[in-house]
Amino acid sequence: MNGEWKELEGRLPAWLEESRKRTASGKVASYIPELANAPGEALGITLCDGHNGVLTVGDCGLHFTLQSISKVFTLLLALMDHGEEGVFAKVGMEPTGDNFNSMLKLELVEPGIPFNPLINAGAIAVSSLIKGATPAEKTERIAAFFRELAGDSSLQVNEAVYQSETKTAHRNRSLAYFLKANGVLEHDDIEEVLEVYFKHCSIEVSCMHLARMALVLAYDGKDPQSGRQLVPRRYVQIAKTFMITCGMYNESGAFAIRVGLPAKSGVSGGILALVPGKYGIGVVGPALNPKGNSTAGVHLLETISTAFDWSMF
Ligand code: GLN
Repeated sequence: MNGEWKELEGRLPAWLEESRKRTASGKVASYIPELANAPGEALGITLCDGHNGVLTVGDCGLHFTLQSISKVFTLLLALMDHGEEGVFAKVGMEPTGDNFNSMLKLELVEPGIPFNPLINAGAIAVSSLIKGATPAEKTERIAAFFRELAGDSSLQVNEAVYQSETKTAHRNRSLAYFLKANGVLEHDDIEEVLEVYFKHCSIEVSCMHLARMALVLAYDGKDPQSGRQLVPRRYVQIAKTFMITCGMYNESGAFAIRVGLPAKSGVSGGILALVPGKYGIGVVGPALNPKGNSTAGVHLLETISTAFDWSMF
């Protein structure tokens, strides 16, 4: 066991309780009604290293849905299905500085493709690229890929969250129709694309799953436990770059300055982060700040990254 890991083990419990105080200023997401049931005061973190080391502190028994965190991994699968050229014909590479569900920039860019794959519009375009004959087959391919990365063959869609989102997703529906008008989803059935998108957002995980998925990214696409290359290194490089520039929505700049690690958040309060070459990290804290990121989760990651000088910059 290295010194850093030992120190982490000793200090994490106090850091977590300090960060937990921040949950009081956050709000659990409620625009997807089912998400409003999450415990606002919860905070948990799991770290995995590449030698079977696991550190888990706080409310790590909590299960939650991936939401926007899934977008990183559907991007990887779409890249594996179509290569860079195929994917970047449908989605751009630039941060927006706007909310994750914004429509503002959809009309402004030539040729009308979404700015990046981590905003909703971009992720919906990416969902349309996943290979499969039916929405069920596409969803199953996505779930199988996530199971492999997370090292758990039991990952499933949380049906209640999926139903709750599909019934209330007026904004995402309008984004998808906008994309169809722009030719990005020209040949697609909107409801079928949205079914795939809502279902991958509704896959249920724990902090341990996030940490395992992040660890594969930290090791450039290789599962350090099995030694298998699960994702080509180049695609992981692309995903990590998007995580830095757009992973924390329109708070990505501040997060890069304060934490300095590739990360992706979701409105369920999850954050997946990684220390390149070293650790995969999963955090959950359902109380969100106004940008839609876990308020206590961001604070905890900032505390740890600062203490160990983990910033990549
Ligand atoms: N499923 C959610 C949505 O489309 C994901 C958004 C998020 O986590 N920011 O609104």
